[in-house]
Amino acid sequence: MRQRRPGFIAVCITLMLLLSNTIPLQAASPDLQLDSTKKQQGNFFIATVSGLQKAPRLWFNGSSYHMFLQNDGTFRALIPVDVMLTPGKYAILAINESWKEKIPVEVSSNGLSVQKVWLDKKTSGLRATQEEKAQVKTALHRLTDQKQWSGLFLMPATGRKSSPFGVKRSYNGAPVSSYHKGIDIAAPQGTIVKSPADGKVILTGYESNRFHVHGNTVIIDHGQGLTSVYLHLNEIKVNTGDIVKKGDPIATIGSTGISTGPHLHWGVYLYGTSVNPELFVRNEY
Ligand SMILES: [Zn+2]
Repeated sequence: MRQRRPGFIAVCITLMLLLSNTIPLQAASPDLQLDSTKKQQGNFFIATVSGLQKAPRLWFNGSSYHMFLQNDGTFRALIPVDVMLTPGKYAILAINESWKEKIPVEVSSNGLSVQKVWLDKKTSGLRATQEEKAQVKTALHRLTDQKQWSGLFLMPATGRKSSPFGVKRSYNGAPVSSYHKGIDIAAPQGTIVKSPADGKVILTGYESNRFHVHGNTVIIDHGQGLTSVYLHLNEIKVNTGDIVKKGDPIATIGSTGISTGPHLHWGVYLYGTSVNPELFVRNEY
């Protein structure tokens, strides 16, 4: 009887090894995950794909989004929900040559009322020049692979929030044609503007060099499709190509371009679409 025991133990160990090997031997199948299936206009979906070697293509509302490799080997995209997107049902689709997964999502209104803005003839006649429009658009659509930011964003300036993000605007009684693509912080001229997160300066524009509407402008690339913009500045303290750290002074508040008084207009963009900057101050992404 005693001689049977070692044999029994050996079988048990072999079985245990076989069972414990089952999980790591099997390749993980691709999987699409969203942080939530419901978002408001001006927010964004966080889409993560695991179990793939190469980034799949991601689709939302007829647009395709590049997915960026993360440190943990997954691919991620922060998919912006445009403020002007009609509330309702949509879907997010991830697809490659041999796999696809689709998740239904819902977009709701941001619930903000329409702001009626009256501009005098001189101001309403001012249009952004082709140079400023093209340069700003190109910079805000910049996609770079390396994620530069970490942790919470800082508020770039201390002052009174004079206009929130996402308010739909009607100019001189016309139907809603646009919305406020950032937050306004009113503060005395000369107040320091800090970079809210690490990044690289990719645009500096000057009112004296045809930035008639935006005024003196700085745009920072934070990587992986995230950029931020600072408008109506007085003095600009950085140059294109500069690497900035969270808290570095980049400019001072002014009233250049179309502006009714000294304030900072701060915008945050994902893939060229503006999202609520305060999301990045309150949450880590
Ligand atoms: Zn503004």
